[in-house]
Amino acid sequence: MDKKQIVIVGGGVAGLEIATALGRRYRGSFWNKQVDKHGAYEVTLIDRDSAHVWKPMLHTMAAGTRDLAQQQMTYIAQARDAGFHYQPAEMCGLDRAGKTILLAPLLARDGRELVPARSLPYDTLILSLGSTANDFGTPGARDYCYMIDSRLAADGFNQELRIRMLQSLVRNEELRIAILGGGATGVELAAELVQLAEATVAYGAHGLANKFKITLIESGSRILTAFPERISLLATQRLQALGVEVRTGTRIKAVTEVGFVTQDDELIPASLRVWAAGVKAPDFLAQLDGLEAGRNNQLVVDGHLRASGDPAIFALGDCASYTPDGEERPLPPTAQVAHQQAQYLINHLESLLQGQDVPHYRYRDMGALVSLGHFDAYGSLGKFGFFKGGFIKGRVAQLSHVLLYRAHQSRLYGFWRGGLIWLVDLINKRVRPSIRLD
Ligand SMILES: Cc1cc2nc3c(=O)[nH]c(=O)nc-3n(C[C@H](O)[C@H](O)[C@H](O)COP(=O)(O)OP(=O)(O)OC[C@H]3O[C@@H](n4cnc5c(N)ncnc54)[C@H](O)[C@@H]3O)c2cc1C
Repeated sequence: MDKKQIVIVGGGVAGLEIATALGRRYRGSFWNKQVDKHGAYEVTLIDRDSAHVWKPMLHTMAAGTRDLAQQQMTYIAQARDAGFHYQPAEMCGLDRAGKTILLAPLLARDGRELVPARSLPYDTLILSLGSTANDFGTPGARDYCYMIDSRLAADGFNQELRIRMLQSLVRNEELRIAILGGGATGVELAAELVQLAEATVAYGAHGLANKFKITLIESGSRILTAFPERISLLATQRLQALGVEVRTGTRIKAVTEVGFVTQDDELIPASLRVWAAGVKAPDFLAQLDGLEAGRNNQLVVDGHLRASGDPAIFALGDCASYTPDGEERPLPPTAQVAHQQAQYLINHLESLLQGQDVPHYRYRDMGALVSLGHFDAYGSLGKFGFFKGGFIKGRVAQLSHVLLYRAHQSRLYGFWRGGLIWLVDLINKRVRPSIRLD
C-alpha cells in the first residue's frame, strides 16, 4: 500500500516539533512498536534554510552573546534521527486541485541555482511558515534596517556589528545603534547589546563599552505593551540604568542611511538600525489558491487548525490566525502558541484525517517572559498554572526563560540527549569566550 504523504512546510518551533514527533511515530523501525498501526504515513519537512534555531533566542545570536553555530540544529541530521524526510526548498505557491505545492528554485548565496523550480505532491499539508518583520511599507526600512527575523538575518547583523565595533575602537568614534520596536524583541536586543559592550572589556577593548549609544524607539506610550504596566515600568527603568535611551511616543516615518526620521522630522542618528516592530506572515500566503487570509497575510484557521475548512490543509503558529470562540482578537504570534498548536496536531492529526470527532484546539495562556540578558528578567504568569495572573522577576524569571528553550530542545533531541546538550552548553560557558570574537 502506498503511504499517505504528510508534507510540513516550515521547520520552526511548530513545524519541527511536529515533524520530529510524527517522524518518530511513523518511521517504522524495528524498535517502534507502533509501526503496524501507524505505518501508513510518510512525513516530509520542507524548509528554505538548512538549520533550525529557537527563534526567541535570535537576539542573543544577533548580539553575539550566544554562539549560533552551537545552538543550531541541522535539518538533515534531525531528519535522520527522527525518521522524516527533509527537502531544502522555498514554497511559493499551491495547487489545491492537484494537491501539490509549488517550490521556487533554490539559490546559493551568490545567486547560482542549486535546485530548479519543482512541485511536490501531498495528501495532507501542514503550513508552519512563521513570520517576518513587518515594515508597514515605511520608506527606507528594507534598505537601511536589519531585521532580526531569521537565523541568517541574525548572523548578518552580527557580522556587521563586529566590523562596526572594530571601527569604533580604532577610530575612537561612538557606535550608535537604534532599535525600532519596544516589544520583547527590541527590549531583549537592547539589553543583550549592553551585555556585549560590557563583555568586550574582558577581551582588551578598553573604552569600547562607553562608545555604545543604544536607543530604543517605541510609537506607543510605553514599551512591552503586551505585558502588564508594572513590567513595562520596571524594564524601562532597568534599561535606562544600563544606559539605553528609551524613547516612547515616537513615530517613525522613514529610515535613511544615517538614522530614523520621526513624524516631526527629527533625525535619530544611528549607524546601525534595527527594525523590530510588528510581524507578518509570508506575502504569498495572502493569495494562496483561494485560502482565506486575514490581517498580516495569516491564514484563517478553524478550531481544528484547518485552513478555510479544507480537510487536507492545516496551518499553525505565526502564519495562522485563530480566534477562539468568544474572543475578539486572534491569538498572538508567540512560541507558546506555536508549540501548543503543534502539540494539538501531534495528538489529534490522525483522528482528524480519519474523520473522527475531535475537540477544538484550546489555548492555555501560561503567561509571557521577557529577558534582559544576564541583568534581569520579568514574567507575567497568565491564566493557567498555580499563580494565575501573578508576576515573577529576577533569577526565577531568568530560569523560566531558559527552561522554555530547554523544553523545546528535549522535544527535538529527546530527554537525555537534550539534557546532555544543556550540560555541554554549561561547560562551554565556563571554557569558551562569552561573546563571539571571530
Ligand atoms: C528575536 C525574537 C525574539 C522572540 N522572543 C519570543 C519570546 O520570548 N517568547 C515567545 O513566545 N515568542 C518569541 N518570539 C516569537 C516566536 O519566535 C515565534 O512566535 C515562533 O518562532 C513562531 O513559530 P513558527 O513555528 O510559527 O515559525 P518559525 O519558528 O518562525 O519557523 C518558520 C520556519 O518556516 C521557514 N520558512 C519560512 N518561509 C518559508 C518558505 N516560503 N518555504 C520554506 N520554508 C519557509 C523558516 O525558515 C522557518 O524555519 C520571538 C521572535 C523573535 C524574532
